[in-house]
Amino acid sequence: MGKDYYETLGVAKTASQDEIKRAYRKLAMQYHPDKNKDKSAEEKFKEINEAYAVLGDEDKRKQYDTYGPDAFSQRFSQEDIFRGANFEDIFRSMGFNFGGFGSDDIFGSMFGFNQQRGDFGNDILANVGVSLADAAHGSTKTVSVRHIKECDKCRGSGAEPGSRVLKCDTCKGSGQMRQTARTPFGVIQTVTTCNRCRGSGKTFEKQCKTCNGHGAIQKEERIDVDIPKGVSTGMRLRLNGMGDYGKDRTGDLYIDIEVKEDSKFERHGDDLHADLHIPLHVALLGGDVDAHTLDGSKKVHVEEGAQNNSKIYLTGSGIPHFRRSGTGDLVLNVIVDIPKRLTQEQKELVRKLIGSDSDAKKRKFGVF
Ligand SMILES: [Zn+2]
Ligand SMILES: [Zn+2]
Repeated sequence: MGKDYYETLGVAKTASQDEIKRAYRKLAMQYHPDKNKDKSAEEKFKEINEAYAVLGDEDKRKQYDTYGPDAFSQRFSQEDIFRGANFEDIFRSMGFNFGGFGSDDIFGSMFGFNQQRGDFGNDILANVGVSLADAAHGSTKTVSVRHIKECDKCRGSGAEPGSRVLKCDTCKGSGQMRQTARTPFGVIQTVTTCNRCRGSGKTFEKQCKTCNGHGAIQKEERIDVDIPKGVSTGMRLRLNGMGDYGKDRTGDLYIDIEVKEDSKFERHGDDLHADLHIPLHVALLGGDVDAHTLDGSKKVHVEEGAQNNSKIYLTGSGIPHFRRSGTGDLVLNVIVDIPKRLTQEQKELVRKLIGSDSDAKKRKFGVF
């Protein structure tokens, strides 16, 4: 549930930053764990800090006012709320010392986030454009990706091969740094990954020269991506473990698909629509014509008396359904090509044709 931060600090919605700061200062003094031993004071102290982290920051306050308490608390985690919050100045002005900690550490400890995190590589995103034919048949596309890779030479250890392994003397081999300090928010303990050995607990006599001891390097790589049959624009494929390298987990590579427009076919779901031009005589007498499909040219039978804009369905000549069986259809829209000019002889033949039609006779050549 969202909280009314204005109520928590006891200020009006129109309060100025100065008023908010003053209200917070007063409450922080009152409920500070060092000053107030009451059990409920600690909870209250957390609440006023959270309220000030939002209202004391113009941007966050604006978002809070815009979204309202409920939507705001859904959109922003406590970690988001305290990110970048600056309490140091205000507390220094109250005569407290942060003991070398930043407010991120302190609120992390207080609210239970920002505890030891693993070394997780980032996910990365790339775009791939494919033709309609590729979408129908599937294909392999090569994408260029700049990502962090485990260093081949030291296999991520950061040590020059053959170098002696030593116990990290910063963390005494535990890989973690525990720090306890008195802060304006009481005594806190933080556990962070040792930044000397980055959590491994080990250091080396000599650093790997390829990665300068980082265990990872940035690399531009060309990656072949299998585009399955039936993809459409907006689909996202995931390639596990192809993102940025991380000791504990390597990120994934996401591929956003864009199927390019085609000059001959219009796609409707997995059906394709296209025009089929037929000569007048085929419309009148029927016959076979060549139709263009994604699988090349196909003979299509046109019934006699075919009408303009009538449809011919080629079942199974559309786009295969994505990751399930079946294929869409190709819907051909018949367009009868009326000759623009006739020879005298052809005109005679047409007149004869109409003359042989008794219905047309009754219409007294009205059409021609
Ligand atoms: Zn290396
Ligand atoms: Zn260490």
